[in-house]
Amino acid sequence: MNWTFHVIPTDPFFRPSKEAAEMALNSLLSYFTHHEGIEFILSDKLEFFCAGENFEKVICKNCQSNIFDWFVCVVLKQEFRTARDLIVVFPCCNSEGSLLDLTYIRPFGFACFGLTVCEGGIDEEGIYELSESELLKLEGIVGYKLRVIWSGH
Ligand SMILES: [Zn+2]
Repeated sequence: MNWTFHVIPTDPFFRPSKEAAEMALNSLLSYFTHHEGIEFILSDKLEFFCAGENFEKVICKNCQSNIFDWFVCVVLKQEFRTARDLIVVFPCCNSEGSLLDLTYIRPFGFACFGLTVCEGGIDEEGIYELSESELLKLEGIVGYKLRVIWSGH
């Protein structure tokens, strides 16, 4: 199986300094000896980090409709620079809410900062997950709580 994972802050608008982002990248490079690329994104607008082909449902918490098509066709083409930008009217039931309140299956995240590891592994056996202590160390460098979005495809 091919896989990729992203590490993003739990607050979508949190941005570390460029120096901190580079230090976090160097840390990741030291954890993963086999990979097809490790990079970071640091942006002044929200970027989308999704679980590739595992990403298939976006559920409105209000009416439980799957609004994946609307999400992909409309939302992902917009730019988001503030939390206010995330407040929208959902097409399923005309309720107003934040895009952060939708249920994403599989994991999906908005963030201004993210680290991405493509097709990585710690060894030939393909042990590829960050350990808890590695994640904690990254959080220390970045200065914020992080979450992992894992993507198999
Ligand atoms: Zn709805």
